Amino acid sequence: MANFNQKIKRIGVYTSGGDAPGMNAAIRAVVRVGIAQNLEVYGIHSGYVGMIENSIQPLHLRDMANIIQRGGTMLKTGRSTDFMKPEGRAKAAAHIKAAGIDACVCIGGDGSFRGAHALWEEHQIPIVGIPGTIDNDIFGSDKTIGFDTAVNTALEAIDRIRDTAASHDRLFIVEVMGRNSGFIASHVGIAGGAEEIFTPDGNVTVEKAIEHIKEGILRGKTSSILIAAEGQKPGRAYDLADSIRKKSGMDAKVCILGHQQRGGSPTAADRILASRMGAAAVDSLLKGFCDIMIGTEGERLVQVPLDVVTKTEKKSQMDLISLANLLAT
Ligand code: ADP
Repeated sequence: MANFNQKIKRIGVYTSGGDAPGMNAAIRAVVRVGIAQNLEVYGIHSGYVGMIENSIQPLHLRDMANIIQRGGTMLKTGRSTDFMKPEGRAKAAAHIKAAGIDACVCIGGDGSFRGAHALWEEHQIPIVGIPGTIDNDIFGSDKTIGFDTAVNTALEAIDRIRDTAASHDRLFIVEVMGRNSGFIASHVGIAGGAEEIFTPDGNVTVEKAIEHIKEGILRGKTSSILIAAEGQKPGRAYDLADSIRKKSGMDAKVCILGHQQRGGSPTAADRILASRMGAAAVDSLLKGFCDIMIGTEGERLVQVPLDVVTKTEKKSQMDLISLANLLAT
């Protein structure tokens, strides 16, 4: 966490990295709270790509009309390899300063926050981060913007799959997003009544899953759903199905939910979280705090230093996985 003394008159807002439903609600809150506090608010397009290309424009109250219900991000998002280099960041910082922007709000994931931290350290641009990612894998915040929507989108699909699984007495493996984390998988698994949940950091093995399914069959179960986080290799569910077939002779159908989990209209919970975080980010900058992320601890909003956020791993909730397992008997 850092403090700065300079009085701010103009702020910038950008979305960066993976998009998440609710980012628009956060942009809207930053713009409208900023303007209510007599600030001018500028939008930076496509995250650090737009900073380097000088794609920066003023945002007005009416630009924010009808965006709260839309998924994606009206500012667009991007990934920039140039920004990973000091020269790229120097160019980006020069454009921010030339536009008269005194401070920024960065809506993104931990990569975006590493970039924001570097802009403060190297160029003294005060930035407050808002965690926007469907994966919920950001240390320092119980919840990230987009996670609730992604879980509900996946759950809707799983409920439909359950109808067909039950009608045909079938075993299904549903693959959800989550490259390094099992948050979507564990939440969807428990809410969708899954038999077994495979996460990148979990300890469920194919053997254990087979044993669990067979025990269920003995108790009269005729269909089962397994949830798998994609891990490092999207399509992992096919490997799991193959392995189950080879080891048990059971035939498992695979359904990969993929990018549909990223899109769609944000849930009320995500819109409210994004609105609160957007307002708190502007408030923090006005009080002279920067190099922090706005996070949640239960219902409370908290400020967490960006270098703590980016250097600490958020662990999956293994208790949810064991509970799902226990409840799917
Ligand atoms: P997310 O913010 O969703 O984690 P990325 O990891 O792709 O997404 O990061 C978004 C962008 O942030 C990258 O394209 C890059 O420009 C910038 N970034 C990521 N890591 C760093 C870093 N260590 N230093 C500076 N910039 C970074």
